[in-house]
Amino acid sequence: MRASTMPSVAIIGTGFGGLGMAIQLKKAGITDLTIFEKAADVGGVWRENDYPGAACDVPSHLYSFSFAPKSDWSRRFAPQAEIYQYLRDSADKYDVRKHVRFQTEVRGSEFDERAGEWVIYLADGSTHRANVLITATGQLSRPAVPRIPGIDSFEGEIFHSATWNHDYELEGKKVAVIGTGASAIQFIPTVAEKSAHMKLFQRDAAYVIPKPDYDYSKSANALFKHVPGLLKLSRWATYAELEPRAAAFGDLQFLMKPFQWKFRSFLAQEIKDPELRAKLTPKDPMGCKRILMSNDYYRALARPNVDVVTDGIVEIRPEGLVTADGTLHAVDAIVLGTGFAATDFLSPMQVTGLDGAGLNDVWQEGAEAHLGMTVSGFPNFFMLYGPNTNLSHNSIVFMLESQIAYVRQAIEKLAEENLKWLDVRPDVQSEFNTRIQRKLADSVWAQGCKSWYTHASGKNTQNWPGFTFSYRAATRVLDSSDFVAQPKTALVLVNA
Ligand SMILES: Cc1cc2nc3c(=O)[nH]c(=O)nc-3n(C[C@H](O)[C@H](O)[C@H](O)COP(=O)(O)OP(=O)(O)OC[C@H]3O[C@@H](n4cnc5c(N)ncnc54)[C@H](O)[C@@H]3O)c2cc1C
Repeated sequence: MRASTMPSVAIIGTGFGGLGMAIQLKKAGITDLTIFEKAADVGGVWRENDYPGAACDVPSHLYSFSFAPKSDWSRRFAPQAEIYQYLRDSADKYDVRKHVRFQTEVRGSEFDERAGEWVIYLADGSTHRANVLITATGQLSRPAVPRIPGIDSFEGEIFHSATWNHDYELEGKKVAVIGTGASAIQFIPTVAEKSAHMKLFQRDAAYVIPKPDYDYSKSANALFKHVPGLLKLSRWATYAELEPRAAAFGDLQFLMKPFQWKFRSFLAQEIKDPELRAKLTPKDPMGCKRILMSNDYYRALARPNVDVVTDGIVEIRPEGLVTADGTLHAVDAIVLGTGFAATDFLSPMQVTGLDGAGLNDVWQEGAEAHLGMTVSGFPNFFMLYGPNTNLSHNSIVFMLESQIAYVRQAIEKLAEENLKWLDVRPDVQSEFNTRIQRKLADSVWAQGCKSWYTHASGKNTQNWPGFTFSYRAATRVLDSSDFVAQPKTALVLVNA
């Protein structure tokens, strides 16, 4: 690659996506790199979500970069602090921090067609220009706060799991928890144990199965470190264990049966009270919402100081929550385990492409992109963990690494062929999305539950319908014929 044709690259975000992208670009010699991060450190969701009990639910040997294996995780599913430290260490090891502008929020970006550059608008009012814009802002980085009437009038303590107030002492308090998602089931055991009384306000019961978690002994980690190939074997054995499960979410839903049996026997074993067991039995088909894993969630709900409330919350008053049956539940604190605004991709950023088209307008019926990464009319713009690249069965880092390799190829192509931009063809984007939406229509996610996978329009904008190896195969080699290429002089179709 000639330095004179080397595109400048801007990345937004420093989670697994942004860091992994920056590391691979640096390895490929693409070093004109600026990374914007609104927080003061790297780490993405693993910096933010430090609530009690936070941990991954994909084993760490797989939920980590393939190029930066770590042999000394303390347990099979590492706690948040270790994953955060791993990301900080990765940033240091590959000297990424010098490219990062911390505490610099991107408000929006507009494509300057004449210059072939993205003009990036920053919160401090300044701008930055780059040929290529990569968003690595994640699907789960904006906490969703429920719009319950009166929520602002509550006079006690209220916080979201992603912004946990560690100064607030739960001991001796009456605490309401709203939500039963992946974060809630992790922090509920601590709240139940510490508080005087906990009320869990449950809209939908979750399917919770045992978590096959255990400590790694010092000697096991020594083996992972010193026995050649052992850590890799553990990674691929985990992949081989998880990957077939994709079929159970698609058109082979009978494969969910063993998990249903596992769930039922676990619930029966942990919850002896038939009334509570009935409350905790989900009505949705298994898999429609994320299947959760915990060894202490049900046990926490069986405690004498815990109640599960299934009447909907209609109002919040200064002293507590009012449910549909008219009961006022007076509490000292409310913890929101209400998840993230996942379908609002890139929001609140405004991204403007060719001819002044705004991404939010293009996406009124829900986000979509070719391979979850590129949108026609938005040249040299790439998303990591974009639309329809979320998983219910395996590691997002695997998906991110597929995307990172694809975007790297696109940037190499710009440099090698001295192109001004690449813009995905609208027919290619539309054919891809028709195909995946057809598959999604047959999936378990389409069976009517209310989940964060579905946009208000009813479209599943989040999940990849299939195997991660199919996604890797589809993204392994960038197909030039999928793009309109604009040379620095005239407009031509590559391979057309
Ligand atoms: C609690 C929790 C547990 C999870 N556990 C798992 C798991 O076990 N397995 C799994 O596969 N996935 C898990 N996930 C999903 C997780 O989101 C992905 O695995 C992965 O971490 C996403 O990384 P990312 O870099 O794409 O995004 P993020 O980690 O969300 O990082 C986005 C970054 O962008 C920054 N940013 C956002 N907007 C702007 C802006 N406008 N300007 C500047 N900076 C900005 C944010 O500050 C953040 O640092 C979990 C998610 C959560 C919340």
